[in-house]
Amino acid sequence: MKIITVVGARPQFIKAVVLSAMFRKICGVQERLLHTGQHFDDNMSDVFFRELGIPAPHWNLGVNGGAHGAMTGAQLQGIEDILMQERPDVVLVYGDTNSTLAGALAAAKLHIPVAHVEAGLRSFNRRMPEEVNRVLTDHMSRWLFAPTQAAVRNLEREGIAGPDVHQVGDVMFDAALHFAEVARGRSERPLVLEQLSGRPFVLATVHRAENTESAECLQAIVQALSGLANDINVVWPVHPRTRGALAKLDLDVTATKGLHCTEPLGYLDMIEMEQAAQLVVTDSGGVQKEAFFFGKPCVTLRDETEWVELVEAGWNRLAPPSSAKALLKAFRAALGTSGQPIEPYGRGDAGRRIADILQGSRV
Ligand code: UDP
Repeated sequence: MKIITVVGARPQFIKAVVLSAMFRKICGVQERLLHTGQHFDDNMSDVFFRELGIPAPHWNLGVNGGAHGAMTGAQLQGIEDILMQERPDVVLVYGDTNSTLAGALAAAKLHIPVAHVEAGLRSFNRRMPEEVNRVLTDHMSRWLFAPTQAAVRNLEREGIAGPDVHQVGDVMFDAALHFAEVARGRSERPLVLEQLSGRPFVLATVHRAENTESAECLQAIVQALSGLANDINVVWPVHPRTRGALAKLDLDVTATKGLHCTEPLGYLDMIEMEQAAQLVVTDSGGVQKEAFFFGKPCVTLRDETEWVELVEAGWNRLAPPSSAKALLKAFRAALGTSGQPIEPYGRGDAGRRIADILQGSRV
């Protein structure tokens, strides 16, 4: 079985680690990675391949930047050329980025079956580019690998059901379990953790377009994180998109005492920071879950989340970034809390289950 996996953005490299390792173990399955180039900086792309042992991409289209249509269109064209030459049995895509949509669409038009990992997630907010990407991808996919019960129900509501919908758990849980061990075994610690010398801190990440493209939201977030930094250290690895948005608004975050802005971290450093943090503040999908994997409370800087089970169990609080005062109140209220014990993301064997299902399928 010949599989081409399309990746392009940071969380997809992390998800691909798990399955690529499984495919390498299965005889008769050959996987090749196609990197669209959507993320390209060393600390947004190369570091993950270097540190996590993901095989180097067989192709890199180098497509990044531009408006959604231009980026997705260029990716679509590049992917189509490769698929026409290679004629794989399966195209595998992860999550909800433009690379996901372009990979699924190119394959569907060539009648190559698509496997979607992280199927069925919904925010029910069609203003999010990710929501459009994931709904369309699900409707073009043959195999739908849903991480949760809620995701399976979302698919059912859209008329997608049957033997190719599988609730397998979350590959990010597999990755977090495995790489937490790897990180523990390293001799070096994240630099910023050493600089804090054991002082407690909050870990923050911000990158969703709805926050970076709104001056009001980004200002409220900066003001609230700066306010929180009066009480407790705040470590903020700044995503390149957010760095650009801060510069555009002339928002200087470097001078605030207690607020430590860093470059984006490698995954091993990131999961070590999550394990050491008192609280996680984020608008990232993956980081919300990792906070839970490591038993940390989380405040999500959004109106809604795809990971509803974490809100229901009290691990995660939604805090729409409309006012700095309300955000700061939410951060302070979340510090020191925890949620109900739940196990919604499987047992850390999602990768193995997906690989088994694909291997056992007729294509
Ligand atoms: N991440 C990382 N370094 C950082 C910030 C995040 O390695 O500085 C990891 C994080 O641990 C998680 C993934 O990136 O596994 C989440 O990706 P991101 O927040 O970019 O996207 P989302 O999950 O929202 O799609």
